Amino acid sequence: MRSLVTERPPKPIIPKPIIAIRNIWKTYAMGEAEVRALRGVSLTIDRGDFVAIMGDSGSGKSTMMNILGCLDVPSKGWFWLDGVDVRGLDEVALSQVRSRKIGFVFQSYNLIPRTTALANVELPLAYAGVRPKERRARAVAALEAVCLEARLDHLPSEMSGGQQQRVAVARAIVTNPSMILADEPTGNLDTAAAEDVMAIFNRLNAEGRTVVLITHEADIAQFAKRVIRLRDGEIVEDRRQAAVEGLPPRLAESSTIRTAGATS
Ligand code: ADP
Ligand code: MG
Repeated sequence: MRSLVTERPPKPIIPKPIIAIRNIWKTYAMGEAEVRALRGVSLTIDRGDFVAIMGDSGSGKSTMMNILGCLDVPSKGWFWLDGVDVRGLDEVALSQVRSRKIGFVFQSYNLIPRTTALANVELPLAYAGVRPKERRARAVAALEAVCLEARLDHLPSEMSGGQQQRVAVARAIVTNPSMILADEPTGNLDTAAAEDVMAIFNRLNAEGRTVVLITHEADIAQFAKRVIRLRDGEIVEDRRQAAVEGLPPRLAESSTIRTAGATS
């Protein structure tokens, strides 16, 4: 019989943060002058968090998004994405990291026109070399996850803005990325459609997906578990609204209301 006493205690499981950036600077050359878009930003984001990055126009949000999404590289500083040291990766390696680890959602949906919802969602899988049959099954599942299973054959022009953005969310999650990165995803939507899209982010986060969302709208930031505010390229506020391990705040609220309703 093995002795329990001599057995080594298990190593504590320390979850790697999905994002760790240290002292990131981004400087753009503007003729003779330099624009310092990010000035020594450090930030750690845990797996499973739901983070809103806020700030006025020109505060550095898009610059931050481009760096977090490996679309651009910092001028200076350290960046680990899901444990990978991103510094020094060439364009090919960066694009691989991007396609494996990040699901992008943009303000303007960026769907391919004259192409069905299903084909739009299948596209990242086609690039990844997934076979047609599996591609189709996974794309259908992703469209079901955004409640668009009845719109598989619709073209972008045949869908509302809210529906198009949900197709874009399906396209972002179909590759099973480590993180969803959304830049003003509700910027073009009316209140009802914005709520629908945010309800989907809520659910994805409740299922354990990390969501990082850029917004200048306070209403939208209320959905996040953590709110970070940029001003002139620096973090000036970092506020936690709900625990990383728990439900996103608006989902927690509505399930409390439901529970309260059920027991009364
Ligand atoms: P936000 O998304 O919060 O509006 P940005 O990250 O787009 O802010 O911009 C931050 C600052 O960097 C601004 O002063 C902007 O003018 C400048 N900037 C952004 N992109 C470039 C670029 N490609 N070339 C020069 N300056 C830029
Ligand atoms: Mg911007």
